[in-house]
Amino acid sequence: MTHGHEVLEMMFGNSYSSREDLVNAIINKFGADERFYTCSAENMTALRLTGQRCAIIESKSMKERKETINIATANIVSIGILVVSALVLYGIFFLIWDYQDWFYKEKLIEVMDQFGTNYLMFMGALIVGIVVHELIHGLTWAKFAKSDLKSISFGVMWKMLTPYCHCSEPLKVSHYSIGALMPLIVLGILPSIAAICLKSLFWLTMGVIFIAAAAGDIMVVWRLRKENPENMVLDHPSEAGYLVYEEEPEDL
Ligand SMILES: [Zn+2]
Repeated sequence: MTHGHEVLEMMFGNSYSSREDLVNAIINKFGADERFYTCSAENMTALRLTGQRCAIIESKSMKERKETINIATANIVSIGILVVSALVLYGIFFLIWDYQDWFYKEKLIEVMDQFGTNYLMFMGALIVGIVVHELIHGLTWAKFAKSDLKSISFGVMWKMLTPYCHCSEPLKVSHYSIGALMPLIVLGILPSIAAICLKSLFWLTMGVIFIAAAAGDIMVVWRLRKENPENMVLDHPSEAGYLVYEEEPEDL
């Protein structure tokens, strides 16, 4: 049996001229023998499901709720995440690679020299990383979006000189969260682990920076943790945050 939510998900981004049209689309996708259940009823045929006064398939009875992230709070959180991840990761690094081997004058000068001579590479990796961060959001969300990459747009907010990625299609809370956290994992956590294994302070520093760069994403997913994972969430088109679509309880 399929939950009515999945029908709703199918309907997003499509339009149906009549109930018959919708019934046919449901049968095409789920099969004529499939039965559906919602919060209020179960064992429904496609025809009955579309006839239900259940909020799930009547978009006007879907409630839209806006959740935005305060930029000032995001900045404070990102500094907090930077400090905590630096303490933890450098801590692990110096525990594994004996800190006594590092904290003497000549070694510190050598490390500073490494950063000094490689500063172009450092800046380059930083800029590439910022762009790749957005690409990873887009590619992951595209995997879950019905219209693939067509729902994904990239751009630059010139005022803040930061690139952005936007998904114009509502996604399940769980799918949206995976896409939001993917840059943190790919650019922050995995390189940090690799850098610790490879004894590279240079790349560990990069990893820590990209963990902090994902602060906004971490805040969004932290906020989403209380949402029903089956609810649909839409990336906010102009603000840092999202819109959640949920059923109006009185219709059930
Ligand atoms: Zn991000």
